[in-house]
Amino acid sequence: MKKIFNFSPGPASLPYEVLKKAQNEFTNWHNLNISVMEISHRNNEFIKLMKDIKNNLRELMNIPFEYEILFCQGGARTQFSAIPMNLLYYDETADYANIGHWSNQAIKEAKKYCKPNIINPVRKKNGIYYIEKIENWNLNDNTKYIHYCPNETIEGIAINEEPKLKNKIVVADLSSSILTKEINIKNYGMIYASVQKNIGPAGLTIIIIKKDLIINDIKKKRKELPSVLDYQIILKYNSMFNTPPTFSLYLSGLVLKWLKKKGGVKYIGKINKKKAELLYSTIDSSDFYINKISNNNRSITNIVFHLKNPKKENLFLKKAQENGLMYLKGHKMIGGIRASIYNAMPIEGVKKLINFMNDFEKSYL
Ligand code: PMP
Repeated sequence: MKKIFNFSPGPASLPYEVLKKAQNEFTNWHNLNISVMEISHRNNEFIKLMKDIKNNLRELMNIPFEYEILFCQGGARTQFSAIPMNLLYYDETADYANIGHWSNQAIKEAKKYCKPNIINPVRKKNGIYYIEKIENWNLNDNTKYIHYCPNETIEGIAINEEPKLKNKIVVADLSSSILTKEINIKNYGMIYASVQKNIGPAGLTIIIIKKDLIINDIKKKRKELPSVLDYQIILKYNSMFNTPPTFSLYLSGLVLKWLKKKGGVKYIGKINKKKAELLYSTIDSSDFYINKISNNNRSITNIVFHLKNPKKENLFLKKAQENGLMYLKGHKMIGGIRASIYNAMPIEGVKKLINFMNDFEKSYL
């Protein structure tokens, strides 16, 4: 089989070793003579698998015990409504930073439940986009939490500094950045992510939430909050109030073990930084490719760029594909090229893309 590199933004590339292991035990999981997809989530083997996933995630992300880990379904988008419904009572509201498409989607949904205080920290200077430092954001004293998305998957713009906000609950959508670099969980009240970029196949959403944010008091809860979205109920039922997405959990579990074996988040964070540096320096050192985001706010996982002559972009994509460099087309809102280089993208893939970019530039200048 021809070796390809998959730059898809999500669902995204998974480690080959993990896919091979899943293939090997596809019809006979843990010597039970059936597939993991056919087993009850109440089975002891499966319950052990869920525990292992939690423990491995706790270890990899250094999650303190005052935080709970919940497994849900419905993707990150479901959390756009579940968060205000769980965290805000009728008369309460929250700050929402708008830095790109996904933060804006979260705002649209939050508006159904509250009147969010919207912060627009994206600025443009000399044609270059940058984001105002978090400490300068115009936060409202009377809001319950601040929601933001540190890595905007479509635009490739990111907030790389950690949010160090005293007296404020920070809620972050890490769908395209979870486990890609070390973070200090204590800076957040809640983190959530759908898994299909860095952890596993679509279906599972991970929530890491400070215990005291899970509302136990019925009087403080919105009466229309659906049980399947109620963090207290999800916790009470050990993330099995509805049947969990068993295959996505299983494969995510294998990816977490793979990451641990590789050296954990510290190790992969260094590689991710290196991969992004190599790619951005190729873009910056050429007059053929352009990226208009300031160095501090460039995503390390979604590298978005354009060709100076956009008419050549289709040819670039066609030739890239012929060279085994797949799914590089930018999102239709932005156009151009987007190289999504999550944890499973080896540095060889990035180097191959860089060689291709250099060759393409020479041929079509
Ligand atoms: N947030 C971010 C940052 C994303 O990248 C995505 C998906 N691309 C979503 C939210 C939506 O996730 P889902 O489709 O799993 O609901």
